[in-house]
Amino acid sequence: METGEKTLRDITGALEDFKKELPKYGWFPGPGESLEWWAGYRDPFHIAVTAVLVKLSRWEQADATLRRLTSMGLGEPRALANASLELVEGALKSVSLWRSKAQTLKELSKLFLSHDLAREDVREGRRLLLNVHGVGYETADSILLFAFNKSTMPVSRQTLRILGRVGLKLGASYERVRLGILESLGGDVYMLKLLHSSMTVIARVYCKAKATKCGSCPLKRACNHALETSQGRIIVES
Ligand code: SF4
Repeated sequence: METGEKTLRDITGALEDFKKELPKYGWFPGPGESLEWWAGYRDPFHIAVTAVLVKLSRWEQADATLRRLTSMGLGEPRALANASLELVEGALKSVSLWRSKAQTLKELSKLFLSHDLAREDVREGRRLLLNVHGVGYETADSILLFAFNKSTMPVSRQTLRILGRVGLKLGASYERVRLGILESLGGDVYMLKLLHSSMTVIARVYCKAKATKCGSCPLKRACNHALETSQGRIIVES
């Protein structure tokens, strides 16, 4: 394959093949409308809570913290909204930014009580979520896509790194990349979930910031970086 300008469609076949590997890493592919993509969860509130908790933390810590909150009776919006801030902070101490995230979770719970995000369109859902202290674009888009099946895309650093190395030119700002991906995939929720979950795993296993394992990466046949390195540059395997 020649290097050159790519489109997302150049990698969707590879992602479809890679899908069977995702459960090993905590993603459970199903139909587009399935909530279980996100760690097998079925409760939109649990998806939203862990989307907040996982920021700058390991997934295992976020999942364990959700289980701790649930065992304390705080696994649903009303109980968490009514709990004291000190109690919530105490439950969050194993994740980073626990004080700030405790406040975020209480505000998020109040939003779940005051609005049915399933009934909001993407624009309004984003506006409401971004008004919550500590919720940024990536978290808001993760919640809307995985908890409410809304057609939007969380654009992570990892996604930017991989798509940049593959050779996709999607733009410089978060919003331009998000809209470019939505346009390329026709806003299809199944494809958006497949792309985000696959990017997360590929970044963790094959395409790290300082070392790549191109030889075993599912994107190697479509990737400009892999082709260039196989033509004489050094591939750093970790
Ligand atoms: S082939 Fe290499 S550079 Fe391309 S996405 Fe995979 S690991 Fe990253």
